[in-house]
Amino acid sequence: MTGYPENRLHRLRKTAGIRNLVRETKLSVNDLIFPLFVTHGENIKTEIKSMPGNYQISLDNLPREIGELTSLGIPGVLLFGLPGEKDETGSSASFRHGIVQNAVRVTKDTNPDILVITDLCLCGYTIHGHCGILNGENIDNDKTLDIYIEIALSQASAGSDIIAPSGMMDGQVGIIRKALDTNGYTGTAVMGYSAKYASSFYGPFRAASDSSPSFGDRNSYQIDPANWRMAMREIQEDVDEGADIIMIKPALAYLDIINRARATYNHPIAAYNVSGEFSLIKAGIAAGTLDAKTIILEILTSIKRAGADIIISYHAKEAARWLTEG
Ligand SMILES: [Zn+2]
Repeated sequence: MTGYPENRLHRLRKTAGIRNLVRETKLSVNDLIFPLFVTHGENIKTEIKSMPGNYQISLDNLPREIGELTSLGIPGVLLFGLPGEKDETGSSASFRHGIVQNAVRVTKDTNPDILVITDLCLCGYTIHGHCGILNGENIDNDKTLDIYIEIALSQASAGSDIIAPSGMMDGQVGIIRKALDTNGYTGTAVMGYSAKYASSFYGPFRAASDSSPSFGDRNSYQIDPANWRMAMREIQEDVDEGADIIMIKPALAYLDIINRARATYNHPIAAYNVSGEFSLIKAGIAAGTLDAKTIILEILTSIKRAGADIIISYHAKEAARWLTEG
């Protein structure tokens, strides 16, 4: 048995050289995905108040945005659309030339190599702001799945690389996989929002995407924050239904879930560092109590250390600048 004073762990921390050599987790720009909010209209670039540096942008401004992300080396985007019209069933979500479908085309025309992930949900497209079709005040899971199929096919036909259903309907990954396969989109991947919690950290996003529920909450379909075994069951369902990538959302208050999923599954794991996590940090930086570069890189590294391969984050652009400047 040896111990102190023969063992001195400080030896491995003495210089930047040795710290670099023994660092276990290395964050890279290749790990990052940037979420984008696209909207109708011309020459629109409206900053989202609670999310500084993030904008709602119109399609004519999208090539410049994609150009910037490309020059930063960010490998992919996650697209959210703000539709021109909303109704009870969110029909504009599956329009052939809907806002997201057109954004996919513009993105791919600008840079065919950038990875395009499309969020698939109804909350931004329905007048009631819920993620599915309602029967009275309750979600009708199975009718919602029929609509999800239409949205998935419209997104795949526009050229989306990865369809990402976020509505937490039972069976969503399986029916989308089947619909893609039977319609010739066998190469289009599915990333399940597998363990999506009913979280308060989504507040700023709902303002950004205009998707707050007009009544009630999402506790009947999203996971109770107190549960980890339920998250593992949700992930297992998505794995069984053919998900290519599994996702945990939010990230920071759920690092234990990322870590448990990493220990159990061999699938790539994505973690969504959500709007409320971003806004908290930005508020701390604005108040002068946190240092931007060190706090943001620490957070993103912790998500990777927990087990995530892919980090979806509103910090992606600033992190990419720091990571590539060395
Ligand atoms: Zn939704």
